[in-house]
Amino acid sequence: MSTNTNWKQIQNSNHQNYLNNNGTKLMLEVKNLKKIYTGGVLALDDVSFTVEPGEFLAVIGLSGSGKSTLLRCINRLIEPTAGQIIWNGMDITQASQDEMLRIRRRIGMVFQHFNLVSRSKVITNVLAGRLGYVNPFMSIANRFPKKDIDMALAQLDRVGITDQAYKRADELSGGQQQRVGIARAMVQEPEMILADEPVASLDPVLAHSIMSYLEQINQEDGVMVLCSLHFLDLVHR
Ligand code: ADP
Ligand code: MG
Repeated sequence: MSTNTNWKQIQNSNHQNYLNNNGTKLMLEVKNLKKIYTGGVLALDDVSFTVEPGEFLAVIGLSGSGKSTLLRCINRLIEPTAGQIIWNGMDITQASQDEMLRIRRRIGMVFQHFNLVSRSKVITNVLAGRLGYVNPFMSIANRFPKKDIDMALAQLDRVGITDQAYKRADELSGGQQQRVGIARAMVQEPEMILADEPVASLDPVLAHSIMSYLEQINQEDGVMVLCSLHFLDLVHR
């Protein structure tokens, strides 16, 4: 990891050490978060940490340690059992459906298995990141404003794959597909990106370049990044 990145790490067992008490503005505050799945699996046990705007936070843990559960609780793709998630001063765990739509619009997600629509074009996959902003009737017809298309192409350019824009997503390599995933998250104009093991399906060289893009977004755009990594990803790096 390059040394100028503002790295902060939490280990699943030791997150309390990173609580911030210096009064700096917080973007995200996770307080005593707990998740017990039906069936009784305790996936998150009293997790607390804070993140400031512009920080890059790595969540490191072995498989099954609760990384995906944590990230999914943060944008309420799953409901926490107890605890609070405060986002820009607002309690996400109490937010209405309308409020959640607005909150999710500003939270980009990057997934281990990319989650692209494989039969759709690359550009269409990127434009999916604009769905929270455009008129639903336009989006059903796959008609996006020119400014959105330009934005999508600019983000593809940034990750070096403009020339792939009109190919089907499944014609791309894994590393290229994850770059599409990053471009899709970026056209959301996110304040925060949640990246759930974004490099776990890639070989170490590609993993390195994907992590560099996330670092670049963090440093140049000031987007806060919360990235989970399997222990081995970190060893590779
Ligand atoms: P990680 O992403 O670190 O591999 P997960 O958050 O996926 O960990 O899982 C944490 C624990 O919760 C594991 O023991 C897993 O088996 C369990 N778990 C995850 N999802 C579910 C679910 N939908 N139902 C029941 N248990 C689950
Ligand atoms: Mg996971």
